[in-house]
Amino acid sequence: MSATQGANRFFRFRTFLFFVCGLAAFPVRAAPEHHAWCDALDKRLLSVDGASCRKRAFVPGAFRSVEGRPLMLLDVPPAALPTASIASAFAPPAARLRWRPPAMTPAAIPPPVAKPRGATRILLIGGIHGDELTSVSIVFRWMEWLDEADAERHHWRIAPLANPDGLFAQPARRTNGHGVDLNRNFSTPDWPRDALDYWRKRTGMDPRRYPGKAAMSEPETRWLQGEIESFKPDVIVSVHAPYGILDYDGPLQKPHRFGRLNLSQLGVYPGSLGNFGGVHKNIPVITIELPHAGAMPSMEEQRQIWNDMLNWIRRAWHQGQRAEDRGRRTDRESGIRNQKTSCPSSFSGAKRC
Ligand SMILES: [Zn+2]
Repeated sequence: MSATQGANRFFRFRTFLFFVCGLAAFPVRAAPEHHAWCDALDKRLLSVDGASCRKRAFVPGAFRSVEGRPLMLLDVPPAALPTASIASAFAPPAARLRWRPPAMTPAAIPPPVAKPRGATRILLIGGIHGDELTSVSIVFRWMEWLDEADAERHHWRIAPLANPDGLFAQPARRTNGHGVDLNRNFSTPDWPRDALDYWRKRTGMDPRRYPGKAAMSEPETRWLQGEIESFKPDVIVSVHAPYGILDYDGPLQKPHRFGRLNLSQLGVYPGSLGNFGGVHKNIPVITIELPHAGAMPSMEEQRQIWNDMLNWIRRAWHQGQRAEDRGRRTDRESGIRNQKTSCPSSFSGAKRC
């Protein structure tokens, strides 16, 4: 071997060493946690595509489920929002954990409705009951339509699967990892007095409707309630199955029909989201009950429910806004300075103003 060949071999070996050491110094970054979550959903639900799910910027919420699964959120600001605002759309988990539960006194006065002057903020929740599979699938379907004109004007925060332990149980179950019905665990003012009593006497201690030992005893409920406090939605949409109806709680004019789902108000229960959001916090809460828990509505019906919902949100808030503006003008003209006392006439919840 000549001296030149020896030198070439030495340089090739040295390059090889640099390459190996470089790999060791920069280990391959682990896939984001939401990739595994998307893959698990892909396996569990026929209509969820793991690859499309992985492309979305899901982030884990400030809490994990009882069994340690991530509680994933997607934040989709309105299309016109500057990039800087998008970066700050999510509060860091530590900041969100600073939230404290509200005082639970029956005399608590609901806050006034905060009218959206800019983009309407919509919190969309699926799968709060783990055995209602379509309620998760349809949220993923609607996410595909968020960049359409009617949807992209809104600021969306989306929790497609609020009860992962229930969905991934075999068989799927309504309750969470502690056997608690999350939709009876929100901190409504009537919870301490009525929730367990209602469960014992009215449901016959139905284990599917157990409200928990205390309001907000469950991490999934604390997470959702924290998101309501920090995101301050103008509308909450919660998807369920299989009653095939539309339910509504809150201050705006009621919707009457989304697709084939007609309004049928089921009443409020101690600890339910409709009670907490719609009655206690005065936020419009739309509850969509799909007709089947295991079979999706036709694509045409999925589209119709979505379109009708967006139309209602646009019209209801627009009417509410105009009514409020009229109220302010009237107040000014009559010399009444304290605008806080004005109640928009179109609000069914005006008695709370
Ligand atoms: Zn349900």
